[in-house]
Amino acid sequence: MKVCFYSCHDYEIPFLERHSPRGFKSKYIKAPLRMSSVDEAQGCEVVSVFSRDDVSTKIIQELSKLGVKCIATRSTGYNHIDLKAAAKFDMRVANVPNYSPHAIAEHAILLMLALNRKLIAAQEGMKKNNFSLKGLLGRNLGDLRIGIIGTGRIGQATIQMLNGFGSKVYAYDLYPEKHLYKTLDFQYTDLDTLLSDSDIISLHVPLNLGTRYIIDMDQIQKMKPGVMIINTSRGKLIRTEAVLKALKDGHIAALGIDVYENEHDIFFEDHSGEEIHDPLFQELRTLDNVLITGHQAFFTETALDNIAQTTFDNISTYSRGATSANFLC
Ligand code: NAD
Repeated sequence: MKVCFYSCHDYEIPFLERHSPRGFKSKYIKAPLRMSSVDEAQGCEVVSVFSRDDVSTKIIQELSKLGVKCIATRSTGYNHIDLKAAAKFDMRVANVPNYSPHAIAEHAILLMLALNRKLIAAQEGMKKNNFSLKGLLGRNLGDLRIGIIGTGRIGQATIQMLNGFGSKVYAYDLYPEKHLYKTLDFQYTDLDTLLSDSDIISLHVPLNLGTRYIIDMDQIQKMKPGVMIINTSRGKLIRTEAVLKALKDGHIAALGIDVYENEHDIFFEDHSGEEIHDPLFQELRTLDNVLITGHQAFFTETALDNIAQTTFDNISTYSRGATSANFLC
């Protein structure tokens, strides 16, 4: 079985090698899957992709011409893959639904804490001999109301961590799971109540037609002035332009994001010395109350190990002509 791994960075290879079954041959391509790189899959029955790869209809058609029969994404989210097109070209698609919800939940908490306690400004002051506490006042997380949008695996891990801080947690999900009340301390509510009552709102839903721009100007207007927004899920959950406006007029006090709606040509690569031609992103980066990380919430040793193992499990399942709950088509 020959597998072509796109968007494959050096840091992933040892984990993939560790879990590669005997008889599998891997081709590691650093470039993302695009029309310009699709030919790299020549001779491979399986391609493995990541969240920034372009797995649209046209690309799937090209992959099919090359003889590719299975797409194994190394991500949880699969909004980058046209599943209808994959089914049309008789291609199997599998994801890694559960590699480490705690890795992403910890990152969401990290962004909340760092923004709340003005960690970056404190560190910058420290480097400049400024030991004044001016501008660094925070609030106890346990005194705050925190709204979690999406109570799947990552949302639940985030609630569990917030329970440790003693925060009052509210949650909204299209499919509430009442049994969670047995193990987690929170309350389900409707989206409008969550928006109007929360001091911090953290997004943990996938990107789909129902969640695209779930945070837009209309929703921002329903929020408490001084709210903090955290997004570790997908960039397009937030209309960045609307959030930027509200950050500038003070309605939103702070924004912590690990994902950005136009991140595809920016994140995951070293662009030192280059210009970033994205005025929205450039402006966002100038604001002191905005903390951005480049899609690194998943980036822990545990997560990389689990991703590699599950990806090869998925490919082995495909090669046996079998299926599992990880197969989307
Ligand atoms: P999950 O499938 O376990 O949970 C998602 C939850 O969202 C479910 O409870 C579902 O009912 C709910 N939901 C779906 N559509 C909704 C809608 N329209 N309105 C309200 N609720 C809705 O997923 P998860 O494992 O918790 O992951 C969530 C997302 O996190 C992923 O889809 C992915 O985009 C993102 N993610 C980001 C990183 C990162 O490194 N930043 C890593 C992994 C996952």
